[in-house]
Amino acid sequence: MPLSDRSGLPGPRVILKQLRALMAGRHSPQGRLDKIVRMIAVNMVAEVCSVYLLRSSGDLELFATEGLNVDAVHKTMLKVGEGLVGHIAETSRPLNLSDAPSHPEFAYRPETGEEAFQSFLGVPVLRGGLMTGVLVVQNQVKKFYSDEEVETLEIVAMVLAEMNASADLLGDDEYMGEDLRSDAPLHLIGRSFADGLAVGHAVLHQPRVEVTNLFADDIELELERLEVALEGLKSSVDDLLAAADQHLSGDPRDVLEAYRMFAHDRGWRNRMREAIIGGMSAEGAVERLQIETRARLSNTPDPYLRERMHDFDDLANRLLRHLMGYETIPRLTRDAVLVARNLGPAELLEYDRDKLIGVVLEEGSATAHVSIVAKALDIPLVGQVPGAVDRIEPDDHLIVDGQNGEVHIRPRTDVLEAYDHKQQLRAARQARYAAERDLEAVTLDGVRIDLNINAGLIVDLPHLQETNASGIGLFRTELQFMIGAHMPRLGEQTEFYRAVLDAADDKPVVFRTVDLGSDKVLPYLPTEWEENPALGFRAIRLALARPGLLRYQIRAMLAAGAGRTLNVMFPMIAEVAEFVEAKALVQKEIGRLERKGRALPKEINIGTMLEVPALAWQLGPLFAETDFISIGSNDLLQFLFAADRANPQLVDRYDRLSPPVLAFLSEIITKADKAKVPLSLCGEMAGDPLEAMALLGLGFRRISMAPAAIGPVKAMLRSLDTKAAAKEVKRLRTRGDHSVRGDLLAFASANNVVLS
Ligand code: PEP
Ligand code: MG
Repeated sequence: MPLSDRSGLPGPRVILKQLRALMAGRHSPQGRLDKIVRMIAVNMVAEVCSVYLLRSSGDLELFATEGLNVDAVHKTMLKVGEGLVGHIAETSRPLNLSDAPSHPEFAYRPETGEEAFQSFLGVPVLRGGLMTGVLVVQNQVKKFYSDEEVETLEIVAMVLAEMNASADLLGDDEYMGEDLRSDAPLHLIGRSFADGLAVGHAVLHQPRVEVTNLFADDIELELERLEVALEGLKSSVDDLLAAADQHLSGDPRDVLEAYRMFAHDRGWRNRMREAIIGGMSAEGAVERLQIETRARLSNTPDPYLRERMHDFDDLANRLLRHLMGYETIPRLTRDAVLVARNLGPAELLEYDRDKLIGVVLEEGSATAHVSIVAKALDIPLVGQVPGAVDRIEPDDHLIVDGQNGEVHIRPRTDVLEAYDHKQQLRAARQARYAAERDLEAVTLDGVRIDLNINAGLIVDLPHLQETNASGIGLFRTELQFMIGAHMPRLGEQTEFYRAVLDAADDKPVVFRTVDLGSDKVLPYLPTEWEENPALGFRAIRLALARPGLLRYQIRAMLAAGAGRTLNVMFPMIAEVAEFVEAKALVQKEIGRLERKGRALPKEINIGTMLEVPALAWQLGPLFAETDFISIGSNDLLQFLFAADRANPQLVDRYDRLSPPVLAFLSEIITKADKAKVPLSLCGEMAGDPLEAMALLGLGFRRISMAPAAIGPVKAMLRSLDTKAAAKEVKRLRTRGDHSVRGDLLAFASANNVVLS
């Protein structure tokens, strides 16, 4: 960071020094701001320097100016997106113009007298990635401002953002009202990926670091701190990559590339060093680079580069945490709502389940495993919440509305009261479901439906009794592997499966063998990078390639099931040969036990998930081999539509209630019924009352879902005539529409089917 730039103007270092002196001086807040704009105007030889600050009303208010008409201060207001200043606020990017009045976004404000100025340089005032204002310099002559001038103004903007946030800037000034502070209420709309309501306090999964000290007291010390933190970052990312740790979102290659871009590019390091030599603290230098990179990449039309920006942000935040000595996984201390850009299921399970009451994600999708785990834990998850990480402050009071997919940040008391009421209504509804616990799952036309729960953790087991479900239709055994710090040993597995069977009493449990890979990774088991992990080395493919893991698991299941009925199911079977190979492993283990004279289960049923479309074209031979089939609609539909179930951009792209899905499922159920092979469906479709209605219309009589869905689905089916539903589904499944959701809703409404 030079003392002066090529034009001979004082560089950021001189300005930082003067800013520091101004901050230390005894000034009223407005007086300080006036002095700052004057100082910048003098140093940058600009005729105008103005500061606009954002009010929560969305207005950018002129707070101080040198050079424009002072009567306009606190009078001139611009909306975000209005005029050049509004444009900078909207895009969060600097604007450098030699002929401002001819720019299409220019909005003339006569009270300011700015028509006299041709050149214009404006930069956003950003804090934690959030736009809080705009800082502008203007000159009469036509000229482009140099890169050094842009950099100088950006550094001043950082200092202004910090002053504004710490309320140091305006103190108790009349203009520093409620609305300028970051504790104004905010309401964000996302999507519900796990039902429920939670009122608690925010915990950032990767805590954002608030940089409060931007100035260097001792330059040598700051340079040393930067080097130490960079080394720490390098080795922690190396560890991450080696262990395929999932603390960073995005696949390992992306992280690796971002890491290379950042840690190995001497340019980044040098720029941070220059900023420190110019008078900034190490934290300030990292934040400065972060702001600059965001500005450069955020508007790129290239989605790949935009994604890299997120990775860079993650890494810069990591570096800040290294500098400030933060822990990687925050400890939860009370009713915690976890806020993250995205999370893997194992990461969610790492948190203390007694304290975690809700999750807010910027990304996420309904059938991503993190949503499934949230449902299993019965905590609401609202995803696709734009800007959640930047807009939610640690410890903010939050309402997570998993019914409507909304998040209220720092809610007002009337909103809290409304939610209190909503929680009471919800509790009443839950009480109604509990009261209906013993009602039979029989439709209006007398068809009995087998309702099962999905489970995977010990905490799920009481749900079987609470819901009075017929059994556990899907026990995801991999969750036990994901929550531990090491691979569960044979004895631990046996004990665990025995506890599950004990809790189920005589009700059937379908144990699915480990379905690892894709987004279900083990923190202690390194995985190789894959181009398409959802289509990759996962589930049964991994288990057959490393049969030791599967054989141990089967051994544990056989031991736990001694003297009882044992149902084992394999995930991701794509062809009959694969199923036969997996089944042979079970036979081998049975033979081993027989040879040793050990007790065996009194009955063993071996079935398969149907979640790879190819298997649907081998149903004849499959029926001859399998005891039962369970359709995994989550994976099946991602393969049917070739649409990654965890990709937030594809969440709305295809509808589960669409003719191709109904037609495909209809073929399978017709054939399974004919062959008298028990068929069920255990994907997320089964737990949505409307989608479950379509499944019953298709002919499904056994479905398995998250425990919380049993009440609503039972209420639906008890008000349904399956013959009428079958007729409607038959009519809809051959249509050419993108979706038949609207028709099914209309059917439900016309026939008084309960969908609440
Ligand atoms: C499915 O794919 O529908 C399924 C039930 O399995 P999982 O969600 O665990 O992949
Ligand atoms: Mg699956």
